[in-house]
Amino acid sequence: MSCPMCRATTNPKYRPFCSRRCADLDLAKWFNGSYATPSRDPEDIEAAIELTEAAEEPLQKKH
Ligand SMILES: [Zn+2]
Repeated sequence: MSCPMCRATTNPKYRPFCSRRCADLDLAKWFNGSYATPSRDPEDIEAAIELTEAAEEPLQKKH
């Protein structure tokens, strides 16, 4: 199996992607697309927002 974003070998930790970066890229792509198609499940969008915030938080806040 290969990464749908860059076709590198899939990392089991981030499958089906090869890395956190590709997983985030795909999420961002999906999330941006969801603005154009308002038929998405609101709970899924909320979960996507939480994932995005969780991914960014460690870079912004250091305890
Ligand atoms: Zn990749």
